Amino acid sequence: GSFDHSTFWKGNRFPSIKAKSFGRISMAVAVNVSRFEGEELQPYVLKVVKKAENLMLERGENKEYLPIEGLAAFNKVTAELLFGADNPLIQQQRVATVQGLSGTGSLRLAAALIERYFPGAKVIISSPTWGNHKNIFNDARVPWSEYRYYDPKTVGLDFNGMMSDIKAAPEGSFVLLHGCAHNPTGIDPTLEQWEKIADIIQEKNHIPFFDVAYQGFASGSLDADASSVRLFAARGMELLVAQSYSKNLGLYSERIGAINVVCSSADATARVRSQLKRLARPMYSNPPIHGARIVANVVGNPALFKEWKEEMELMAGRIKNIRQKLFDSLSAKDKSGKDWSFILKQIGMFSYTGLNKAQSENMTDKWHVYMTKDWKNIIGRIIFSQM
Ligand code: PLP
Repeated sequence: GSFDHSTFWKGNRFPSIKAKSFGRISMAVAVNVSRFEGEELQPYVLKVVKKAENLMLERGENKEYLPIEGLAAFNKVTAELLFGADNPLIQQQRVATVQGLSGTGSLRLAAALIERYFPGAKVIISSPTWGNHKNIFNDARVPWSEYRYYDPKTVGLDFNGMMSDIKAAPEGSFVLLHGCAHNPTGIDPTLEQWEKIADIIQEKNHIPFFDVAYQGFASGSLDADASSVRLFAARGMELLVAQSYSKNLGLYSERIGAINVVCSSADATARVRSQLKRLARPMYSNPPIHGARIVANVVGNPALFKEWKEEMELMAGRIKNIRQKLFDSLSAKDKSGKDWSFILKQIGMFSYTGLNKAQSENMTDKWHVYMTKDWKNIIGRIIFSQM
């Protein structure tokens, strides 16, 4: 006979499951909105992306499954963009690159690798950091703690605090670093500071784990924004790098990025790659193709690649211009002698202002200047839109 679901299904089967409210995950969309394009707030699609998509459509590309590790042409160019095409690491086949579900999915895959092959190892993350980092490591059951990063007194980097916390972490910890344009502070170490950070990480046998979500979008130069990662790689260190194309190509919803693991030999690389695939297979089987093809087409075509770089310079340049204007106006109007130069020193689309809660609220209530309240709820953060 047939099973009567109506009589069976009568209890509250999910009594302990509570709803969780999420903040606006679409913050990036606010950033990717061109302000008054035709009087409407329209999310901006890069011209070069439209061109690549047209090419793809003309070719009538199919929708066959990708291999677990993703599109080969994408994996090749994404590692080359990150490390530089002529980096000996690539020749030596010492980079295990696996296409991921954008930055988040790539970080999550690396977290799964850490959980499986480095049981008990800790990840240390900056205070503050992008909110999802904690979720990702919690979800993967990887223990984490924070290292000092932001110094409210200077609205700059707490370099000494950062160094001593990295030093104090248990040997062999993973040190999560933002490759460029630190989210949410906009404060990056200088190259000299990066060298010292690399020294201490090597001294403690830690493993650097870079999150690169803004390559090219921060300074306008793909190479300059990768200089932190390349500096570590040039020391022959093993390291992890998660990449995202959400911002620099505006591919937010395509979920395109990669996890790269730099290993000490081609043999270790092959083993790591196979284990990354083994982790990916039961999670999502294989990654989506559309964004991977866009990236491979843009980078693989010299004319499109050149155009992308120009558009990136435009986006980064716009943000730099706004920073300069904000700095000029504040310096001209503020008679208190406060040093606002941190606005120029910070990079990327976020700026910590150092304003406290009352000051931020005054700006909102009286002047309609809206800022997010980050980091212990006290700092007005400005988010610059790219267009
Ligand atoms: N990492 C950082 C620091 C970010 O700011 C972001 C996006 O805001 C990401 C990773 C990941 O974004 P996505 O998953 O869209 O690549």
